[in-house]
Amino acid sequence: MTVNKVSFTNYRNIESADVEFSPAVNVLWGMNAQGKSNILEGIYYFARGRSFRGAKDRELIKFDSDFAHSIIEITRTDAKHTVTLESLIQKNAKKKLIRNGAVFTSVAEMLGNFRAVMFCPAHLSIVTGGPSDRRAFLDIAISQLFSSYIQSLSEYKSALAQRNALLKRRASGLCISVEEWEVYALQLSHSAAEIAEFRNDYCKKLSDSVSVFFENMTNGRETPSLRYYSHMTRDDLSSFQEDEQKEASDDCGFDKAAAQKRLYDKLTSNIDRECAVGSTLWGIHKDDIKISINGKDARLFASQGQQRSLALAMKLSEGEISKSITGEYPVFLLDDVFSELDISRRKYIMDKLEGRQIIVTSCEPSVVPNAMSNSSNVSFMEVSGGKVTQTG
Ligand code: ATP
Ligand code: MG
Repeated sequence: MTVNKVSFTNYRNIESADVEFSPAVNVLWGMNAQGKSNILEGIYYFARGRSFRGAKDRELIKFDSDFAHSIIEITRTDAKHTVTLESLIQKNAKKKLIRNGAVFTSVAEMLGNFRAVMFCPAHLSIVTGGPSDRRAFLDIAISQLFSSYIQSLSEYKSALAQRNALLKRRASGLCISVEEWEVYALQLSHSAAEIAEFRNDYCKKLSDSVSVFFENMTNGRETPSLRYYSHMTRDDLSSFQEDEQKEASDDCGFDKAAAQKRLYDKLTSNIDRECAVGSTLWGIHKDDIKISINGKDARLFASQGQQRSLALAMKLSEGEISKSITGEYPVFLLDDVFSELDISRRKYIMDKLEGRQIIVTSCEPSVVPNAMSNSSNVSFMEVSGGKVTQTG
């Protein structure tokens, strides 16, 4: 999959820009605060349906403007025709997402049309941050691949919010029937089992792929492992080290029916405890990926360099898994990633991403290894004051 061109009007600090991309390597370079990350954010918006920096839609509208308009033209490797995706964010109206002129009815409907892997220094949190960072990683990656995952996630989130509200009402004295708790337990455990199956499967693929990338990067001295860690498959998520041995021998298939029953039982037998805290204590909203190196928790024991290599390996793997499922590589968007990496790591990434489209941002155009920068496949664009100029 490649991005051919992008047009922005009143997007962040970009009043108007039309940018054409090479199908291989693209370097957006320029001084700080000129609009480089804004461009990547604007492109990735079509893969995620929202800003990767956590901004609200209206914050994407240029100061003192009423709307932000972006258009992206992509070519899928399978179909030779191009697809145009469009986003119109307005101050006083609902946003519109459009494909080849036809309006999507929801953000969920757009996901999967354009697939991209975004990587920026803050993504180190997929290794060093809390479980919610890793759940977000899974949700974003899997949502681009399977529309039924988005559907189950949305059903789960809405049932969870309703059940949490009910727990609070019961805590304040309202009487709620056993049947009502059972209905929620059924709804939640059903969609949770769907989600857990996707996540479990994804984590297995991820673990295999991350091991290969990581061992390559570190000359094979240590072996990482990534495991899906969930109430759907275990009672206690707090013990990390102790069950490592057991897990190694325990790596059989995911039993969906058993997972669903496990959660159903939890949600029907601990209501007093849940009322006391006012929220649902079991379910896939507590899931994590357990990342270890040679059996030790990477979050606590890995060096900074190892954590960075793991995060990078996870992002490269996200691309590999996407390719294995969809038949084509996603577009790789690397925001300011190279400035933190030594030359050998940079070269490693460029070698691994050869043949894929990548768009990188950097303060210096010299970010690409020398051997590559003269190639006709590398396009350089200077970004200054929200304007983009081709420089090579
Ligand atoms: P760096 O190299 O420091 O990462 P950058 O080129 O990636 O810089 P961006 O994050 O793209 O910089 O931001 C460029 C500018 O966009 C910032 O100065 C910011 O104030 C401005 N900006 C952000 N949102 C808006 C908005 N809604 N309207 C106008 N300008 C905005
Ligand atoms: Mg930036």
